[in-house]
Amino acid sequence: TYDLELVRVGKTYADGTPAVIDFDLRATKGEFISFVGPSGCGKTTTLRMIAGFEGISAGDVLVRGRRINDLPPERRPTSTIFQNFALFPHMTVRDNIEYGLRVKGLPAAERRAKADRMMQVLDLADIAERRSAGLSGGQRQRTALARGLVVEPDILLLDEPLGALDANLRKSIQAELKLLQRNIGITFVFVTHAQSEALALSDRIVVMNRGRVEQISPPEELYRRP
Ligand code: ADP
Ligand code: ADP
Repeated sequence: TYDLELVRVGKTYADGTPAVIDFDLRATKGEFISFVGPSGCGKTTTLRMIAGFEGISAGDVLVRGRRINDLPPERRPTSTIFQNFALFPHMTVRDNIEYGLRVKGLPAAERRAKADRMMQVLDLADIAERRSAGLSGGQRQRTALARGLVVEPDILLLDEPLGALDANLRKSIQAELKLLQRNIGITFVFVTHAQSEALALSDRIVVMNRGRVEQISPPEELYRRP
């Protein structure tokens, strides 16, 4: 069984814009999948449908065989890391990380233990009690990752999360993502317009154009046509 299946998925916005057409994809557990393509080709819309943020006009999105839209928000098996990280600025690193666990109704002791473990993994323990407003770009990035991962999602969705960072930071976070993939076995879906990033990170790359999938290939076969 697949971790993530998109079966002829389509999205037409209320204004008639056909944003995604007949999107098919099957990803196995632990795969790192990137969506690339020009601005407006439908990457973010597809990601938002997988997250359950956006209604699906046609087809089905299945996570481990379950239709995503049949699940209430607090039981959806995905976490999303947004481009701007969307941290709560007035809250501490710890409280940001515990937020999703609170929503799920976990008792305080359990929240604390899980957050501690995740802060250890992402090297955040020393800044646990600092407000996120004062953090550096890399610290905010790692806090966002920790907040997404602490709820133990089947799938982590990343919407251009590295774009705003400088080259060194980007490299170190790329390395971090690869490590997480290997150690935790999470399936990643990564939206980017930077092809170099997709090439560095992905097991398979989905090339989109005007709402359609043009190609799905491992990096080494990208753009090589028979
Ligand atoms: P991206 O950086 O992913 O290309 P955009 O800058 O195109 O995103 O869009 C930013 C926001 O505006 C998104 O939430 C998107 O859903 C929304 N948006 C984009 N195009 C339209 C549109 N034609 N009508 C309404 N909302 C749109
Ligand atoms: P990408 O992420 O590849 O830049 P998007 O998924 O944001 O592409 O957009 C795909 C298409 O859907 C574009 O034509 C965009 O303008 C349109 N679009 C995105 N969001 C909305 C929206 N909320 N309402 C109407 N059209 C939208």
